[in-house]
Amino acid sequence: MTIRADATPSISCVMPAFNEARNLSRVVPETLAALAALSPRVELIVVDDGSRDDTAQVARALSQSHPQVVSLQLSRNFGKEAALTAGMEAAQGDVVILMDADGQHPLALLPDMLRTWRQGADVVYAVRSTRDDQSRLQAGLTGLFYKLVNWGNRVEIPAHAGDFRLMDRKVVAALNALPERNRFMKGLYAWVGFNSTAIDYEPLPRADGQTHYGLRGSFSLALTGMVAFSTAPLRLLTLLGLLLAFGALGYGAWVVGEYFIAGISVPGYATIVAGMMLLSGIQLLSIGVLAEYVGRIYEEVKRRPAYLVSQRSGLGLPPRARRG
Ligand code: UDP
Ligand code: MG
Repeated sequence: MTIRADATPSISCVMPAFNEARNLSRVVPETLAALAALSPRVELIVVDDGSRDDTAQVARALSQSHPQVVSLQLSRNFGKEAALTAGMEAAQGDVVILMDADGQHPLALLPDMLRTWRQGADVVYAVRSTRDDQSRLQAGLTGLFYKLVNWGNRVEIPAHAGDFRLMDRKVVAALNALPERNRFMKGLYAWVGFNSTAIDYEPLPRADGQTHYGLRGSFSLALTGMVAFSTAPLRLLTLLGLLLAFGALGYGAWVVGEYFIAGISVPGYATIVAGMMLLSGIQLLSIGVLAEYVGRIYEEVKRRPAYLVSQRSGLGLPPRARRG
């Protein structure tokens, strides 16, 4: 496939930033230089996700000194998924690249990504070859999450792919058109499909500061992803209920048999207590799982926007409609 062999697309790079002031002043100029080497028409959208440090000021200053930089300030911390959504909706380029603001995504990969796009891929996503930057426990849990969420699903979410990717305009348009507010991006990328190609990379160490996704953050994101992309937990509950019901039938028959055939009248106190505790435990667990789904439904029906922009500065690329 060489359908885009000669194309020089305009490029938008979206960079969500939460408390990354110290990284931005280095990462933004470096990224701009890397982008400029690929196309004469580029923009870099820094989305300040309600940072508590100087990220917003630094981003705004960068947008004043570099005409390609757009600074988009969200009204509070909405989370990375919402920040990415905000950036993708603001992006005007023919291709959109998503990158972290902490310098972990190697710029050296960008030419390869664009080359792969030129060869016909609509999505080029970077797959990490190691998880050395995470603890063994976290890497293990992440693996388990992907096994669970992909279990019995038609749409497979690739296990080691993150948000670092290049997407064609039509993919971004598809993502922007998805109406849900609880946005688990890794699932949405997989859901929209399109012709996708993976390339391997090794994440660099964080330039400054530390990750926002420790065990707790990752767990809550995993829960969102699980509920949004899999009904397997609900099905498991049904299965568990069935198993228990059959077990209870069998046990009942056994007790009756013991009484009539062997003449043993069973003293039932311990059995009742244990049975009751087990069953109420399982019932509470089931209600909890249901509540996770109901809670997300509640979030969705309120139809609040996924993010709010409090300030925008910088020019970036001209709007798409006007360019025809
Ligand atoms: N981020 C964000 N909002 C948040 C948390 C993180 O915009 O609430 C950004 C963060 O600034 C960084 C990217 O998302 O650019 C990835 O975050 P981080 O480096 O903490 O995650 P990791 O690389 O460890 O997965
Ligand atoms: Mg990082």
